[in-house]
Amino acid sequence: MRTSYDVIVIGAGPAGYHAAIRAAQLGLNTACIDKSLGKDGKPAYGGTCLNWGCIPSKALLDSSHKFVDANQHFAEIGIKVGKVSADIPKMMAHKDKVVAQLTGGVAALFKGNGVNGLPGTGKLLAGRQVEYTNHEGAVATLSAEHVILAPGSVPVDIPPAPLTDDLIVDSTGALEFQSVPKRLGIIGAGVIGLELGSVWNRLGSEVVVLEALDSFLPMADDRIARDGLKLLRGQGLDIRLGTRVMGAEVAAGAVNVSYQDKDGDQSLTVDKLIVAVGRRPYTEGLLDPDSGVNLDERGFLYVNDLCATDAPNVYAVGDVVRGPMLAHKGMEEGIMVAERIAGQKPLVNYDCVPSVVYTHPEIAWVGKTEQELKASGDAYNVGSFPFAANGRALAANDTDGFVKIIADAETDRILGVHILGAGASELIAQAVIAMEFDACAEDLGLTMFAHPTLSEAVHEAALGVAGHAVHMINRKKK
Ligand code: FAD
Ligand code: NAD
Repeated sequence: MRTSYDVIVIGAGPAGYHAAIRAAQLGLNTACIDKSLGKDGKPAYGGTCLNWGCIPSKALLDSSHKFVDANQHFAEIGIKVGKVSADIPKMMAHKDKVVAQLTGGVAALFKGNGVNGLPGTGKLLAGRQVEYTNHEGAVATLSAEHVILAPGSVPVDIPPAPLTDDLIVDSTGALEFQSVPKRLGIIGAGVIGLELGSVWNRLGSEVVVLEALDSFLPMADDRIARDGLKLLRGQGLDIRLGTRVMGAEVAAGAVNVSYQDKDGDQSLTVDKLIVAVGRRPYTEGLLDPDSGVNLDERGFLYVNDLCATDAPNVYAVGDVVRGPMLAHKGMEEGIMVAERIAGQKPLVNYDCVPSVVYTHPEIAWVGKTEQELKASGDAYNVGSFPFAANGRALAANDTDGFVKIIADAETDRILGVHILGAGASELIAQAVIAMEFDACAEDLGLTMFAHPTLSEAVHEAALGVAGHAVHMINRKKK
């Protein structure tokens, strides 16, 4: 086995595998060490995202959405299907097939681009040496000119709700239920709680979500969060804000959860409980005390704006460093670091990281929220447009939500875009592109959008910033 490289990457999640592939494409001799194993016990590159995160959750979100459409909404547009039933093992098999296809795809990309994939564990020693232990326990010491750390994150545990084999689970366990729990409890109304809560609610569970905060999705724009909460509650998600979980005990095959809210002590019995209260950086066993890499006060690997750690030529990217724990943020960091190692000068624009919650309707945003701008005292204008007035949304019988664009009052530069609606995850890309190009709301207003499309709601919201939306009553007084 080769032991000396230009670049060694530890971790093959989205941050690490993007870094490794790009480095190899740029002609650098690259190895990528990753310890994840798939369900078949074989190495499975792709990290949390591909194995037990973004991809399996979206497979179940899509399948369960189609199930609800068939069961509840087809009849509204004249398609009679009768009572539709869900085949959960088959849904799970579809999800697993997609996961296997994509993790296998990363292995093929490694091979094709010349990345030396090394299944096993990596530990950074002093002087950019890396201790590599393969799955059979053989240990080798490798060295590199540059090391990129991308070990990702793991779910946070909370003492009142310790995980059990299959009744109290984290997000990974919640992607594996083989039947629909009749009563499902979820601790945390964050992204995972809402997405997995939606999956199981759609498939028939009675879902109760216990959220510690009094506010719902505080990082989203207030109006989006308010309307989103109303719509999700309308679908049957029983979201209880301002709750404090005190304990969770397994008894007679069920879970008894005790919690407090403004009215005092409460209890709840569920068949399964999902703990989804955030994720933390995963650095166990990663660093030798002499590695020269430091952690910040919250346990993230400390890096500067260019993802450089305190150790020379050692970088860290993805969930293990500051910033949102999102796959695309890690991918861009991985690519930036690889290209910088090769002598190029790219930057990651942390002001333009889109966020998406894949509920239905989807919730997506980029840039500043209105409440942030109010707090900072910046003057702004807002344009918004409801999907209920959009021809394509009406044709699709899917009209909940709206697009909201916030622009600087003086320069008209777009400061934030917030979307609640079907297809928000795709529509938000238009906003990200506009903001990357420093566009004004007027620039979007002057752009031609195909008709009839959901995108026209973005166009109309942009026109609305200056009060020009066409499909709104907006008459000048004579
Ligand atoms: P990871 O994906 O966690 O990968 C790290 C890899 O490094 C793992 O394979 C790990 O085994 C390996 N590793 C760790 N330490 C070592 C070591 N010492 N030696 C060798 N290997 C090591 N984000 C989105 O943007 N969109 C979504 O829709 C989305 N959905 C999600 C749904 C769920 C249920 C979850 C849990 C997360 C979701 N995320 C989503 C978040 C996303 O998965 C993470 O932001 C992303 O995977 C982080 O990428 P990463 O490369 O930093 O780390
Ligand atoms: P999160 O931070 O999104 O939400 C956690 C929620 O749990 C918060 O609302 C928090 O107030 C609440 N909470 C914390 N402690 C609690 C307690 N003791 N009792 C009740 N509520 C409590 O975290 P998550 O949903 O676990 O997701 C983890 C990460 O994974 C997120 O940072 C997210 O970026 C990423 N992720 C992204 C996507 C996506 O992009 N669509 C999907 C899933 C996960």
